[in-house]
Amino acid sequence: MAAEARNVGVSADQILVLEKGETHSWAIRKFYPASKVVLANYKGIEAVCAGVMCISDMSKDETLTYIDRTIRQHGLRVRYNEVVSGIRPLAGGGFSIQSSSGSYEARRCVIAIGILDKPNKPEYRIPVSLNKRIHYDLTSAILENEKCLVVGGGDTASEYCQYLVEHGNQVTLSYRQTEFYRLNRINHESLLALEQRKQVTILRGSHIKQVEVDTSGDARVLFEEGAFPPQSFQHIVYALGGTTPTNFLKAIGIAFDGNAPVVKEGYESSVPGLYLIGDLTAGKKGGSINLAFNMAAEAMRSICVSSPEVCETSLKSAPANG
Ligand SMILES: Cc1cc2nc3c(=O)[nH]c(=O)nc-3n(C[C@H](O)[C@H](O)[C@H](O)COP(=O)(O)OP(=O)(O)OC[C@H]3O[C@@H](n4cnc5c(N)ncnc54)[C@H](O)[C@@H]3O)c2cc1C
Repeated sequence: MAAEARNVGVSADQILVLEKGETHSWAIRKFYPASKVVLANYKGIEAVCAGVMCISDMSKDETLTYIDRTIRQHGLRVRYNEVVSGIRPLAGGGFSIQSSSGSYEARRCVIAIGILDKPNKPEYRIPVSLNKRIHYDLTSAILENEKCLVVGGGDTASEYCQYLVEHGNQVTLSYRQTEFYRLNRINHESLLALEQRKQVTILRGSHIKQVEVDTSGDARVLFEEGAFPPQSFQHIVYALGGTTPTNFLKAIGIAFDGNAPVVKEGYESSVPGLYLIGDLTAGKKGGSINLAFNMAAEAMRSICVSSPEVCETSLKSAPANG
């Protein structure tokens, strides 16, 4: 979004990016396995780039370098280790933003905090003694030559299976559905190939009832279905997606329709001048990097239409893709 603002002529000192992580792209660093190919058409979302930013299929490192370069080339001011705790619309227009390091005022605010800050957790209780054996990402601990259970059925679950097999683990996947209808083609084919080669065992239509500690301190998993006998695993990796930070958004006064924040054209929320982009408003199917980039381009276009004085450059002259 900051790159889009620069592209229409907003000066760098008029833009501030606040990021809670110690560096940019926290979600990519934490959740993407090192060897992962970052897909331009993730989840089958077609990568037709509408703004200044665009990725093609590339490695995790190349993706991070691309963002590094963007920040540098546009001279963006990013304050790291700064958590935004609240945003308050001001009576005369604009916003007051409270962060862990102070407060700011801005005419417009764009929230792009994603949904991965709070990974979804299972509804059953997991014994505390298993904490070191329960994972929500694959970068916080190194899993090699272990017996692992992956829980989920989306692209992340498939990628975690692929990564774990590459690292010599014995992998089982538990998925509630009987068909993988959410996977993109590459992840679908890769997972089925691993199953065929007996490198991954897939428990289709399996529902975990309970996780307990077995006599050797491993996780003993009990299933609802009699067809799946209890099994012990050294590690369980959950790939269940994330949750919209509803309370944070509602506290600002943003209206919701069910679980989803209401957005108008250009991703403006019900609070005028406040925009929600990226995974936050990508909908049930989930988001992707290029989709998030495109949403930023659309939000910027909408700002330029409603307040042409903000934008020196007309967005009608087609944007250049990165
Ligand atoms: C395992 C996995 C694999 C994926 N693979 C692909 C792929 O191959 N290709 C693809 O296109 N997409 C992929 N995705 C999806 C993609 O990562 C997301 O769609 C994209 O990161 C969404 O970007 P975002 O900016 O909305 O949110 P995020 O990337 O989640 O960024 C949100 C940022 O906000 C920060 N933040 C959160 N709360 C606050 C706060 N209160 N104050 C300040 N900062 C805050 C976070 O630290 C974070 O840096 C994958 C996702 C996962 C989990």
